[in-house]
Amino acid sequence: MTTNWQERVSLKPYNTFGIDVRARYFAQAHDDDEVRQALAEAGARQLPVLVIGGGSNLLLTGDIDALVLHMASRGRRLLCDEGERVVVEAEAGEPWHPFVQWSLEQGLCGLENLSLIPGTVGAAPMQNVGAYGVEIKDVFAGLTALDRQTGELRDFSLEECDFGYRDSLFKRKPGRWLILRVRFVLGRSLNAHLDYGPVRQRLAEQGVETVTAKAISAAICSIRREKLPDPAELGNAGSFFKNPVVTGALAERIRAQYPNVVAYPQADGQVKLAAGWLIEQAGWKGHREGDAGVHRLQSLVLVNYGQASGAQLHALAQRIQADIFERFGVTLEMEPNLY
Ligand code: FAD
Ligand code: NAP
Repeated sequence: MTTNWQERVSLKPYNTFGIDVRARYFAQAHDDDEVRQALAEAGARQLPVLVIGGGSNLLLTGDIDALVLHMASRGRRLLCDEGERVVVEAEAGEPWHPFVQWSLEQGLCGLENLSLIPGTVGAAPMQNVGAYGVEIKDVFAGLTALDRQTGELRDFSLEECDFGYRDSLFKRKPGRWLILRVRFVLGRSLNAHLDYGPVRQRLAEQGVETVTAKAISAAICSIRREKLPDPAELGNAGSFFKNPVVTGALAERIRAQYPNVVAYPQADGQVKLAAGWLIEQAGWKGHREGDAGVHRLQSLVLVNYGQASGAQLHALAQRIQADIFERFGVTLEMEPNLY
């Protein structure tokens, strides 16, 4: 067995829900060679491999009978500096928020609205992470991934990633591509996105007169700290359901019954509904079953008060899905990856 493989490792420190399941084998990959070695050895032993980063978008429902490969590669760099347009690259295992902070320290703009998202750079393209009106696809320059079927490296352009709302080619083909490093195209001038949620208001409250990327980042960090539970204190995986995008006709039917429904018309005529509003309206906010619950401030977030199992959280999620469908005719899709 490769020396850095461990057996029967608790994954509790490796998932932000804090669920205590075990990996049959566990290893860390610090560079491409260690990734290749781990995959080759797992292949030789016919063991499945589950790649993880920060574990902030996982729901683990039982022991993992596989090699769990934790991406621990580090490194971030300016690849190309044309003055106004700068391409930066980071290794998959780089923690996301410190990478955003580093880009801001370089005087670069573009990632500020994506501040304080947990997890790693390598996982960010999986669901095209997004917040406060920006998604990584808006600043994406490319990525390098290892094809786990052929062992070949491949560079992906923006178009090839086929990003959608909390979605990508990689999410739709789980287990095929292992993302090694990601590139972003950032600017030296700010193209501020302030019209989402309370961002503009928070900047005003903070007395910001000249809006900079750093000021936006600080405002968003302060909003997020107020609203979202810190996984270090209360286990969670962020939004548990995607905001459903429904037909205009269904949105109208819901509005006729619930005039306050929170709904955002999309360019294609469909309407995005705030899943958190639907769940709150249905009375689930703050609901608790044993140690599994719905957060008391943000109903889109399921929480683990301590000893909840992944199966308990999943069962609670399924009850919420069934109730929302019955009340509103809306299907809620889970956001975290279920294993
Ligand atoms: P993990 O949970 O470790 O993995 C997620 C998936 O990606 C798994 O399927 C895993 O197999 C796969 N994967 C991981 N690394 C790689 C790799 N290198 N190559 C191939 N596959 C890989 N998300 C948002 O979009 N916006 C938000 O604002 C946001 N806020 C959050 C707030 C909180 C408090 C929490 C807990 C979560 C939030 N999330 C948000 C969800 C989550 O942080 C992101 O989806 C993040 O990108 C997940 O990164 P990770 O490294 O933790 O991935
Ligand atoms: P919020 O501001 O209370 O808004 C509720 C929902 O309405 C959001 O989910 C957002 O959808 C949508 N929304 C708000 N303003 C909008 C606008 N101007 N145009 C279109 N849609 C709008 O949301 P929140 O829960 O506090 O989260 C704030 C941001 O952080 C959101 O972008 C959210 O997605 C992101 N976030 C994501 C996670 C995660 O795990 N995925 C966790 C925490 C926060 P969108 O979600 O589509 O943006």
